[in-house]
Amino acid sequence: MNELLAAFRHTANNHSQIEGSRLCGCCNCVQIFKPDDIVGWTGLTIDNMLDPSAISQQTAMCPRCGSEAVLGDRCGFPINANFLARMNEAWFQRTMVRRPATKR
Ligand SMILES: [Zn+2]
Repeated sequence: MNELLAAFRHTANNHSQIEGSRLCGCCNCVQIFKPDDIVGWTGLTIDNMLDPSAISQQTAMCPRCGSEAVLGDRCGFPINANFLARMNEAWFQRTMVRRPATKR
């Protein structure tokens, strides 16, 4: 469980990490995609949008489901279906309460 906990920390403020990754995965919908597919980020406001450190601390939103539950392979954990399924089970089916609003 510690491994999953450590990995989950990388799903927030992960902009710079994901920029350095070649593969990303979502712990909510268990999809695997390229960093280039991510178009949505959270964390910037009108007050800090020009602040480089704020930009590097944005949180990726999953291009498939909109969740802030994206991991990049640069975090050191394997981005594969099995690992994402374990993350999903640990965080979304049991303990996580935050669910994204359905888009479209
Ligand atoms: Zn997703």
